[in-house]
Parts: sequence; structure tokens; C-alpha cells
Amino acid sequence: MLNLMSTLIISGRTAREALMPALMARIKALSFVPQVAIIQVGNRADSTAFIKVKKVFGEKIGVTVKEIHLKESVSESEVIEAIKECNADRNIRGIVVQLPLPISIDRDHVIEAIDPKKDVDALTPLAAKHWLEGREDAIFPATARGVRELLEYYKISLAGKHVVVVGRSMLVGKPIAVIAENESATVTVCHSKTADLMSETRQADVLIVAAGRPKLITIDHVKEGAVVVDVGINTVKGEKLEDEIVGRKLVGDVDFEAVRDITSAITPVPGGVGPMTVLALFENLVDLCLSPKR
Ligand code: NAP
Repeated sequence: MLNLMSTLIISGRTAREALMPALMARIKALSFVPQVAIIQVGNRADSTAFIKVKKVFGEKIGVTVKEIHLKESVSESEVIEAIKECNADRNIRGIVVQLPLPISIDRDHVIEAIDPKKDVDALTPLAAKHWLEGREDAIFPATARGVRELLEYYKISLAGKHVVVVGRSMLVGKPIAVIAENESATVTVCHSKTADLMSETRQADVLIVAAGRPKLITIDHVKEGAVVVDVGINTVKGEKLEDEIVGRKLVGDVDFEAVRDITSAITPVPGGVGPMTVLALFENLVDLCLSPKR
């Protein structure tokens, strides 16, 4: 068994700090201050927290972040109207609809209303078509881009590796699988109907988990020496005294404490993929500013 000393803890915070100056230089080189609109519907505490993180980071790097907060009771057409206003506003270069939306609102209808030229999350059908086809100028959803840049920063190559991705959503799992395949990995995608998840994940040289299920991945799911990237963000009841004050604790999909010692490298939650997602969102924004004819 590998010992603790040989396990690299992959820090998204460190990578983001290192990659930030280049992004800031690209923003400074624009002839305008880019603006991104973030639309929140309702009052989910996790959404509010994620938006705050994006706003603080955006303003730190020279982007104006406009928050548009709509009531939980708002109709689908009112959300679409807010998006259309952002589409028409020449100062707004990027639009984020914070997901999930209330169940009364059709997510696809809302996303389809976003002007693809302002789709920083790469969720519109046109943006998805571009990244699924592997177009060179495609914008990938921020988390997938963040995972790729995190691995690149730590010089973890995917070429020739067996990459197993758990999760197949258009926001996270699928674009990560496409990126891995583009980088010449052999890719297996698992999901909730996968018959024997453990036997699939045990094949992985690089295991990337985006299921939204706390402790889905145990020590028995991981091959010794594998790289494990935990994308999951789950809120569970606090277990330690300091967590109980807030009453909640963020955990990933991987049982980090049990698994870390047998891996060669692993991302923690929080502090792994999350910071890179925020960086990548703003990298996408700059790409859209520089190449608006999509
Ligand atoms: P999602 O839309 O709910 O998709 C979850 C995926 O996981 C689905 O493909 C689902 O399979 C699969 N899945 C669920 N339970 C499973 C199980 N027991 N075994 C195998 N596969 C299973 O969620 P998402 O938007 O992709 O997000 C996934 C996780 O990433 C969430 O925890 C989310 O909070 C987190 N996230 C993190 C970041 C970040 O920056 N770190 C950013 C975005 C999202 P089916 O397709 O069969 O239903």
C-alpha cells in the first residue's frame, strides 16, 4: 500500500492563484471592463453561496458581476424576459443562470433563451454542439475546463490513460469525458444505471467523479496509485464542533479520508475542483469577449 507521503493533494486554490495573473492580464488587455450577469431564482443557500464566491472572485480580477435575483414564485416567462434583457444589453458579455432552478421552471427553455455569444457556461444547444463536435474554438462548461486546467497545472497527462468518469450530465460529466477523449484517454462513462460501478471504477488510472452522492466512492472503488478527481459538492450535516455552528459541511462524492492513502493524487472538497470552476468561468468570459462571433 502507498503511504501518505506519496499522495499528492491536488489544490485548486494553489493552481488558481498561479493561473490568475495570466487571466487578469487578458482582462486588462480588453478595451472595456467585461460584465457578467448572474441570474438567481429563489433563495437556495448553496446557490447564494456559489454566486457570492463568483462575485468576489470576478471583482478581484477586474470583471463587473451583476446579480439579478428573482423570486422563487417567478414564472418561466419572467425568467426568460430577464435573460432577453441581458441578451440585449451590450455591456453584458456573459450570462450565468445559477442552477438548479425551481421545479416549476423548465431548465431547457430557460437555457435556450441565452444568446450563445454570451453563454459562459456553454449549456446552450449551439455551445454543446460545438464542444461535442470537438471544435477547436469550442467553449466548454466551466467545471470541465477547470478540471482539465487543474490536471494540466499538476502535469497529470490523460493521454493513453484509462479515465473513468462517474456522471454524464451536460454540465459536468459529459464535457469532462469529451475533454478526456480529446486528450487521447480511453474513456468509460458511468451513471446511475451502471450495473457494477465498482468493477468499472477499479479500472481507472484517473477516476473523475461527478455524481452528487456523498461517499459514493469508497476505498474498494479505487485502484492503488490512481489519480482521483472529486467534482461532487454535497452539503451534509456538520460532524465536527466548528461545523455544527454553521450546521452544515461540504463533502465530495469520494470518501476522502479512506481513499487518499492509496491514491497517487487526489482532490479534496472543498479546495479542489471548486476554485478552478470559478476561474474557468471567467476564462470562458474572456474567450467570448475576444471571439464574439459564435
Ligand atoms: P446531475 O445533473 O444530478 O448528474 C449526476 C450524474 O451522476 C448523473 O449522470 C447520474 O446518472 C450520475 N449518478 C447519480 N447517482 C449515481 C450513482 N449512484 N452511481 C453512478 N452514477 C450516479 O449533477 P451535476 O450537475 O452533473 O453535478 C454533479 C456533482 O458535481 C454535484 O455534486 C454538483 O454539486 C457538483 N458540481 C461541482 C462543481 C464544482 O465546481 N466542483 C460544479 C458543478 C457541479 P444518471 O444520468 O443515470 O441520472
